[in-house]
Parts: sequence; structure tokens; C-alpha cells
Amino acid sequence: MTSGAPSRFSGPSDLHLHSNHSDGTETPTEVVRQAHAHGIRTLALTDHDRTTGWAEAAAAASERGMTFLPGMEFSARQDWRSVHVLGYLFDPTDAALAAEAERIRADRVGRAERIVRSIARDYDLRWDDVLEQTTADATVGRPHIADALIARGLVVDRTEAFEGILHPRSGYYEPHYAPDPLTAVRLITGAGGVAIIAHPVTKGRDRMLPVPFLERLIAEGLAGFEIDHRENTEPGKRELRRLAAEHDLIVTGSSDYHGMAGKPNRPGENTTSDEMVARIIARASGSEPIYP
Ligand code: AMP
Ligand code: FE
Ligand code: FE
Ligand code: ZN
Repeated sequence: MTSGAPSRFSGPSDLHLHSNHSDGTETPTEVVRQAHAHGIRTLALTDHDRTTGWAEAAAAASERGMTFLPGMEFSARQDWRSVHVLGYLFDPTDAALAAEAERIRADRVGRAERIVRSIARDYDLRWDDVLEQTTADATVGRPHIADALIARGLVVDRTEAFEGILHPRSGYYEPHYAPDPLTAVRLITGAGGVAIIAHPVTKGRDRMLPVPFLERLIAEGLAGFEIDHRENTEPGKRELRRLAAEHDLIVTGSSDYHGMAGKPNRPGENTTSDEMVARIIARASGSEPIYP
């Protein structure tokens, strides 16, 4: 159990950052260094479907007198909607959670190969190009295909790749296996973690889940929403704030940093209040924050 003493960490807090253990471009150490340089004092590493970056990030955070919260961004899907569920302070050895994350990661590889095969009909791109952009630790995704397209000179950066060749409308898109959001919330909560829906109101493909379904997730243990995120729409944020107040939920703000070269998002561009960080810590029972 956590002691829940809120005075043991200090803000500003950014609870959503990625390293090269998923689809960020930097090592956990470099992510922590950048977060610190951007003024962050408490951070969570939230690689997609993977926890292998925790130890390195925790050590780098301790060295700088920062507090580290272990986290993960769990891939889920509801019909055609991709839904990302942030899990904080869960037990990484929980068998059910670890098995499901492994299943998602394994399927992501075959899916990436299918996307590349499809792109290769029209462009000079091979699977080996993607492997060259992927470390052994990575959770393979479209960002690595984007890096291969950049290396081939077919696009200038990840943004151009996502707006063009990798966009679902371009016809090369394939989904990967992902459990439904209810399963994701149950797995995180069952492992003693705190489940927060990441960027729940982005434009277009990831449109907000229906309120009755969100209320079902809340009843199953969903703790809150990531509201301050650059991709959430203003009307969406207003609606979520209303829902969060009605159900006394946790609300967070974060950068979704993917490396200086990975995405324009910068550490600390959105932050989570001390009160909300304290609520996350108090609610969790699966693992402890690493204090300086
Ligand atoms: P995937 O999970 O393989 O479908 O790829 C989605 C991931 O790509 C997300 O987790 C984002 O990190 C990343 N992504 C989405 N849009 C962009 C973009 N415009 N530039 C860079 N990365 C992006
Ligand atoms: Fe990502
Ligand atoms: Fe996400
Ligand atoms: Zn993310």
C-alpha cells in the first residue's frame, strides 16, 4: 500500500511521456533529462504496452532529484475507435496485465509488416528499413514505419508521414489487436493501478466514446481523464470536465512527449496539478512512486 503522503513529490508534473521502449525517439534517460530541462520535477514514463523503461527512467529521475511514477499507455479499441488507457502505479508482474500487453505487442509486429507490404506496392520501402529504425526494446508502430519513410527520403518527418502515407485514408492502414476499453480498465485496476483515458477527445478518428459507455467504465474503476492534451478539442474538454466533476474523477494534463524529433509535443506543455498527482498516488496499490 502507498503511504499517500502528498508532500513527498513536487511539481510541475508531466505524467505522459514516451521513450524508445515504445515509439519515442529517445532513451528513458534522455527523456528524463529533457523533462528536467523543461522544468518538470515529477514525471511518469508511459510507453505503449511496455514497462521495460521504468528502471532506467527511475534511476535517471533519482539522480536529478525528481519523482518517478511508473506508467504505461495501454492500447485498446472500441469498434473502429482507437482508445488509449494510461495506467499508473500498477504491479508490472501482474500476470493477466503482462500477458495482454505482450499479446498486443506481438500483434503489432505482424500488423506493421502488413502495412509495409501494402506500402511497398507503391513505394520503395522494405521491412528491413523498418527494422533498422527499431531497437530491440521498441513497441513497433507506425512511427517506426514513418522513420523508415524518412530514411528513404519519401517524407521529411513523422508528421508528414502521418498526414500522408500512414493516414488511414491512404489505404495502407491496418488495425492491430487490442482489447476493448472495459478489459483495459479492469486489467489496470486489477493490477492495483489507476486507469485514466488518454487524449479522449481528439479530432476525427478517435472521437469521444459515448457518455453512457464512459459511465460504464467509471463504474468498473476508471479513475479519470487526461483533459489538458494538445490533441483534445475545446468542446470535448468542456464536456469531459463536466463529466469529471459530476463523478468526482481525476483529471490530468500532459505532454505526450515522443522525443524532440518524434513529435512537436514538449515536456511540460501541459501539466497535472499536485492535488491530482496526490490522488493518483493515494488510489494506487500496485507499485510505489520512486521518490528522490
Ligand atoms: P500506431 O499505434 O502504430 O497506430 O501509431 C500511433 C502512434 O503514432 C501514436 O501513439 C502516436 O505516438 C504516433 N503519432 C500519431 N500521429 C503522429 C504524428 N503526426 N507525428 C508523430 N507521431 C504520431
Ligand atoms: Fe505513441
Ligand atoms: Fe496515445
Ligand atoms: Zn502517448
